[in-house]
Amino acid sequence: MGYAAVLLGPLILLAVILLALAIERRHPLEQQPAGASRFNLAYMIIYAASGAMLAPLTAIVTVRLVNAAGGGLIDLDASGWMLVPAFVVYALSMDFLEYVFHRVQHRVPAMWAMHSFHHSDAAMNASTTTRHYWAEAGIKALSIYLLAGILFKTNLAILGMYGVLGLYHVFPHMNVRAGFGPCWMLFNSPQYHRIHHSAQAEHFDRNFAGLFPVFDWLFGTHHIPRAGEYPPTGLDTGKAPASLLDTLTWPVRK
Ligand SMILES: [Zn+2]
Ligand SMILES: [Zn+2]
Repeated sequence: MGYAAVLLGPLILLAVILLALAIERRHPLEQQPAGASRFNLAYMIIYAASGAMLAPLTAIVTVRLVNAAGGGLIDLDASGWMLVPAFVVYALSMDFLEYVFHRVQHRVPAMWAMHSFHHSDAAMNASTTTRHYWAEAGIKALSIYLLAGILFKTNLAILGMYGVLGLYHVFPHMNVRAGFGPCWMLFNSPQYHRIHHSAQAEHFDRNFAGLFPVFDWLFGTHHIPRAGEYPPTGLDTGKAPASLLDTLTWPVRK
């Protein structure tokens, strides 16, 4: 199972991204330059080579190792029907940790130096999902995944289900006109996450949530999209990597 997951995880993610790109092509929100996704797909090779594309698997391994070492203050090692509430607790908690990590990425200059690469896409689409600076996956393993292992005693079923749920991140990056209207708080959406990627100052540091916007609401970082509100994306400076080589040195470029 282990070896299959190592290969299958990134391949399934790639397949979902390609499917999403095909859907976008039929129903685009904005007309993007031909090959707008080509750069991100090429960068995916660097991302995969660094091991960052295995982040869902890294999360599973990290939590399992910490559990095996005696970690796990809260027992979520459930089976049968109890698996459902245990999974809900784990998914909400992990998404909260992701929310906190994301706030840190925007607050701490050294973290923003890396995370700004994700925000530098002026043509946001499904391929933007994996446009993250490669080193960030390792930092997550040593912070929030480690903490998850200390906090929760889980099992492979819960960890695997959370890994599959991670495929959802492709949807909010899609170049399509889609939002949940008055139910915006339930799940992240292309419209809600587009506000986070907005190049306009009024939207900066809003809508940090990964899966569940309820965390933005709880901490007052939400911007409820207005009807038809789909701002342009990218950095306000217009800065973007000019080549794949630029992506390697992105955090130290000024
Ligand atoms: Zn961000
Ligand atoms: Zn994003």
